[in-house]
Amino acid sequence: MRYRYVLFDLDGTLLPMNKQTFFKGYQEAIASRVAAYIPPQEFINHLLAATDAMIDNNDPTLTNQEVFRRDFFPRSGLSEGVAGPVFERFYREDFPALAALTQPTPTAREVLNQAQAYGAELVIATNPIFPDIAIRERLRWAGAAGVAFRLITTYETMHFCKPKPQYYKEIAAYLNTEPENCLMVGNDVEEDMVAGETGMATYLVEDHLIYRGLYRCDPDHRGRLQDLLTFFNKL
Ligand SMILES: [Mg+2]
Repeated sequence: MRYRYVLFDLDGTLLPMNKQTFFKGYQEAIASRVAAYIPPQEFINHLLAATDAMIDNNDPTLTNQEVFRRDFFPRSGLSEGVAGPVFERFYREDFPALAALTQPTPTAREVLNQAQAYGAELVIATNPIFPDIAIRERLRWAGAAGVAFRLITTYETMHFCKPKPQYYKEIAAYLNTEPENCLMVGNDVEEDMVAGETGMATYLVEDHLIYRGLYRCDPDHRGRLQDLLTFFNKL
């Protein structure tokens, strides 16, 4: 068996979406939740800066959540005791409505079923800049609720973000396997195909392709999400 583990990106891969539209809607929605404490645009600027701090972090002893907290709360002047519960309410009560900004397809679940039928264990390798609750909610939108995943990368558990190769190395270490046993499926050349640098095989999903021209685009496989329905049969 060629790939014991198949890693799937979520946004734009299993969950079709225009990333800019989704993130704009997300930022506005969460900013309006905390508008009583901080002006929305000021909040969004701090949120983006703290997200960049997570993405840039090189300290393997800090989880992404810890990096975010250490940057965001001092920077914004918000107290964690006040803002923390507001964020939790946002993810519970408001975040589900953002499903309207995505275009789920039944093909996603069929692809996951095919990968399982092939015999692989499944990993959700979404950029771990979100809490577990937000990632599980997006999995529901994608039609992947109830699927057995060996690992879902969240900001509570991971120490690196895409596009760092260390993110993929951490996944392989968690799986206690060599990167060569993994296939990474994603729509973003820089964030997902960089997995190839660690020795993982790569499949570029072109439906919502993102390519900034910063990385050599040389995936092992490429095609539409739908093409993955037959891909595993041919391996
Ligand atoms: Mg993506």
